[in-house]
Amino acid sequence: MKMHFIGLLIFLTAMQGTKAVDYTVTNKALSTPGGVRFRDQIGEASARQTLDSATQFIWRIFQQNTAADRKNVEKVSLFIDDMDGVAYTSNNEIHLSARYVNSYGGDLKREISGVLYHEMVHVRQWNGNGGAPGGLIEGIADYVRLKADYAPSHWVKPGQGNKWDHGYDVTARFLDYCNSLKNGFVAELNKKMRTGYSDQFFVQILGKSVDQLWTDYKAKYGNIA
Ligand SMILES: [Zn+2]
Repeated sequence: MKMHFIGLLIFLTAMQGTKAVDYTVTNKALSTPGGVRFRDQIGEASARQTLDSATQFIWRIFQQNTAADRKNVEKVSLFIDDMDGVAYTSNNEIHLSARYVNSYGGDLKREISGVLYHEMVHVRQWNGNGGAPGGLIEGIADYVRLKADYAPSHWVKPGQGNKWDHGYDVTARFLDYCNSLKNGFVAELNKKMRTGYSDQFFVQILGKSVDQLWTDYKAKYGNIA
């Protein structure tokens, strides 16, 4: 009896720790070549797995170890749509373009994993209560993609770009530099963005203004800001 009780306790504790997120994948583009390519070369089960892996990875990068640290999201839905563009996220729904899937020429699985990691960051990240610059939001999403080793080859190289908050790869590379000055910088920045946003967050975490950091970053790679 005693053993059973301990076993039950361990089971319940494990359940509490995982508190599984529900992932659904709906392919609404099966009548198009991209929808068929998604079904044949990626598939719903694999996509669900990627969404789960992305979530675990994001919690680790953001250093969110408890439910209290995390955004409370119980369900994330991925839709494969017959639409232009690559992907977008709103209301915990990720929409992936079947036309993009159809036209992609390289390693499709790797590319779509990278896109899904980026979009999942938008589900999980804080946005300064709506006050954070869009370029920073996109930069953090691509920073996670970079750290997951899903950066595409066409991205800018470190030190390239004209503005720290240009967004996407430019800002991701800059955040990678900032994080190299203090490990956990991006996690701390995201945490501060839970309730608002200020450029002063860079000063508070790294002791330098974001403009100074950008100048230092450009100089490190032999470029003038
Ligand atoms: Zn984005």
